[in-house]
Amino acid sequence: MCTSGNASHRPTTITRREALAGAGLLAAVGATVLADPAPVWASPVRPVADDLDVYVIVTDGMRPDELNPVQAPTLHRWAAEGTRYSQASSIMIAETLPNHAAMVTGVLPARNGVPSNSIWDHAVGDERTLDRPDDLRAPTVLDRIRTEAGLTTASVLSKDYLHGLFGGRASVQWAPFPLVPITDHSLDWFTIEALKQTVTDHSPRFTFVNLGDMDRFGHMDLSGTSLRLARNQAVYNSDHKLWEFEQFLRSTGRWDRSVLIVLADHGMDWSEPMSLISAAGAIDADPAIRGRFGVAQNGGADTFAYLGPAHERDASLRRLREVVGGLPGVNRLYDPAELHLGDRAGDLIATCHPGWRFSDPTPLSNPIPGNHGHEVTLGIPFFVGGGHRIIRRGQVVDRPVWTVDVGSTVARLFGLDHRSMDGAPALEAFHL
Ligand SMILES: [Zn+2]
Repeated sequence: MCTSGNASHRPTTITRREALAGAGLLAAVGATVLADPAPVWASPVRPVADDLDVYVIVTDGMRPDELNPVQAPTLHRWAAEGTRYSQASSIMIAETLPNHAAMVTGVLPARNGVPSNSIWDHAVGDERTLDRPDDLRAPTVLDRIRTEAGLTTASVLSKDYLHGLFGGRASVQWAPFPLVPITDHSLDWFTIEALKQTVTDHSPRFTFVNLGDMDRFGHMDLSGTSLRLARNQAVYNSDHKLWEFEQFLRSTGRWDRSVLIVLADHGMDWSEPMSLISAAGAIDADPAIRGRFGVAQNGGADTFAYLGPAHERDASLRRLREVVGGLPGVNRLYDPAELHLGDRAGDLIATCHPGWRFSDPTPLSNPIPGNHGHEVTLGIPFFVGGGHRIIRRGQVVDRPVWTVDVGSTVARLFGLDHRSMDGAPALEAFHL
């Protein structure tokens, strides 16, 4: 049951409810709906090559050390045959939503409105996930390529909240289905099948892909730091599905058109069972700041939003720094401005040491050991591969790059103006 027949140029999608009401699993896997590329009234921008298809593939939560020939033979080969960046990093806060938002907007959270997965929402008076289309305050390359170049774009995102945040941006959107209970993500098997179907049906010129298994099985893994069997299996399985995607591109004549920008949004750390930080508990125990701060828990980082009268803010923040900074496991405190996080990040950020996690508002709120958001999870794999002739082969670049550089790289490849973005194009990877 597709909501086709939309005569406007707005992108459309099917909802999960509609998919559930549809003809079953296989139909749902292929359920994408095309909206025509927007008409380009001004002089259109042009990609650097007329036979260019660009894929940004996010291996969610993959660590740089997992890009090896045993665990990820396909990705390792793609990287070796292309350009690999050895000093690649997430932006803070090292979580899924802010890093995906940085990738497709090319700007930092202060400008795109997404500093963390979860914020303290003053209007609601509670913590909430940034999963609404109007939470994203900046244009993305998904909509700019569609509207400025007049080309079809697609998003194939395995996680429900990513699909929510980027709703309405791409010409073609796949609503992740079926969803795994609790994790709210679709297994990579379904996501890659949906990707192949989307490419077959719509031939998008730019496609944004999130593969959630590595992250979700990393979070769920209860076996600690020595035996991460589920996680390792997830890396291998996802890699194998990407091998299948490569065979699909080759067998349909698309490999030579393809530029694959592959990276993680953040890494992964595993905490010890008792290495919990309950900042909300410590605030409640301190009469000077009790009830004065809303806490948004983000795994390896907490954000604190001041709720009290304006004239007592500075004193309360000083006391908060003493209280939270003194908790075992807390690594650093940041003013949100020094991380370019913007107003939604609240008034203070705390991060934890490796092997720790925040659990707020109660010690039972965060039972999962796999964790990210803090400094030790900033390192990510990042490479440019694929079959297109513009890719530089067999090189490793040591210049630091960040997730926010993806937006300007994609913009450069499609001829979009990227001078006002915060990132810089990864030009070393291309013959341009
Ligand atoms: Zn993630």
